Amino acid sequence: MPVIYLDNNATTRVAPEVVDAMIPFLKDYYGNPSSMHTFGGMVGRHIDAAREKIAALINASPDEIIFTSCGTESDSTAVRAAIESSPQKKHIMTSRVEHPAIKNLFEHLAKTGYRVTWVPVDREGRLDVEYLKNHLTDDTALVSLMWANNETGVIFPIEAISSVLKDRGIVFHTDAVQAAGKVPVDVKEAGVDLLSLSGHKIHAPKGIAALYVRKGTKFSPFMIGGHQERGRRGGTENVASIVGLGVASEMAMHHLSDINGRVRAMRDKLEDGILKNIPNSMRNGCKEPRLPNTSSVSFEFVEGESILLMMDEFGICASSGSACTSGSLEPSHVLRAMGVPFTAAHGSIRFSLSAYNIESDVDMVVEKLPPIIKRLRELSPFWKNAACKIQ
Ligand code: PLP
Repeated sequence: MPVIYLDNNATTRVAPEVVDAMIPFLKDYYGNPSSMHTFGGMVGRHIDAAREKIAALINASPDEIIFTSCGTESDSTAVRAAIESSPQKKHIMTSRVEHPAIKNLFEHLAKTGYRVTWVPVDREGRLDVEYLKNHLTDDTALVSLMWANNETGVIFPIEAISSVLKDRGIVFHTDAVQAAGKVPVDVKEAGVDLLSLSGHKIHAPKGIAALYVRKGTKFSPFMIGGHQERGRRGGTENVASIVGLGVASEMAMHHLSDINGRVRAMRDKLEDGILKNIPNSMRNGCKEPRLPNTSSVSFEFVEGESILLMMDEFGICASSGSACTSGSLEPSHVLRAMGVPFTAAHGSIRFSLSAYNIESDVDMVVEKLPPIIKRLRELSPFWKNAACKIQ
């Protein structure tokens, strides 16, 4: 059975061009880039070339890019560097809808003496920028906000926020793990100090990522060790994956128009087809500004996990917006922060496309999903009760 992969915000297929570029560094060019000999030095030059490509994707200078092992490490490095650079300040801010890489770190920091302001979002997932403005203080060390939400795709106004923070001595970090490669990301226009991105969301392998550190931003390493990455991240480089991330970044730049044209049109066709054909279904998050590949949809009175299992029978891969914790299905913190009703949050599904999707993938979902939801609702006592009231 062919796989219809619509879970690209979870991870992406490694592009064949990326694999081809990596193989020589796994087989033949195994030298250590820090070595004095020509064999190692040659490997180092390929790292430099990859750094240039990643910098170009976000309009940074190559020396502003640090390679890390994952988006989570980039986020942790950024946050820790920011708070260490102003140890006297004890207030930090983020939103209520961040990925666990930031959310759980801020919860941890809250237990170790930091005062955290969690900026709310509205019913459509839009950030309350006034709330953010009103809660900034002279004690604020860091604001960390995601560029785009991994569940709903909603895009935050990063540039507008950076102009609010300008000249206040507050470090601004953005988690652009979902945005890079899907929408134009320009660190200069955005005015951010630190930015995280991750390879496996843009068709590079898992286990490689990058952190942008604006020139002049105070920085202290999270991984303390050797002199690699100019002393900003110790550890022998993951050469093959770095080369792969370079190629993936170059491809992402070329694919931006395809993602924002063809892929966006397929996403819209999928979303419209679902909302038109399935009663009591709704989109989570505003229509715009939103990632062009992401659609989060809720189906009232059914459970997301049951929908996923039934779609799986047709090879359709997507994600649900709830997590199975201690036997009970808790709706995601993102949907709860948006105030999505419980009956809908439980039945939410995230579809996320990539340039590898084709029209027939979308047609398959639009054909198979309505009978799946109908069948699940026939089994649901909640739906039966609700149906009596709705009619
Ligand atoms: N931030 C966001 C918004 C994400 O979506 C993810 C992964 O899903 C991460 C951070 C973590 O990235 P990684 O899986 O590379 O650690």
